[in-house]
Amino acid sequence: MDVYPTQLNLDEQGRELVIQWSDDQTRRYGFKELRDNCPCATCREKRKEAPAAPNPLQVLTPEQLVPLAVVGMRPVGNYAYAIAFSDGHDTGIYTLERLRELGRLSNDA
Ligand SMILES: [Zn+2]
Repeated sequence: MDVYPTQLNLDEQGRELVIQWSDDQTRRYGFKELRDNCPCATCREKRKEAPAAPNPLQVLTPEQLVPLAVVGMRPVGNYAYAIAFSDGHDTGIYTLERLRELGRLSNDA
């Protein structure tokens, strides 16, 4: 990767992660999107097991009752970031490449 984050922020409402990249691209990431794409082994296994058509009648799990948020982010080497979520999950290492695939372009920054 020849681009890297130059700034990490939460948006004004604290609902999204905003990353400024060295090529002037700004991308916004919903917390749930990041959490759903967690690349750690545990989450990859879970996604594999998830049924294609989930049961529409589900109660909220305790984790879902608390709004999900990103509570921490730290660089791992020079190629990735570890993201910690408010549900206590912090083992996901997101490579810069993956982070460029996720989120959406934002021009209003
Ligand atoms: Zn995970």
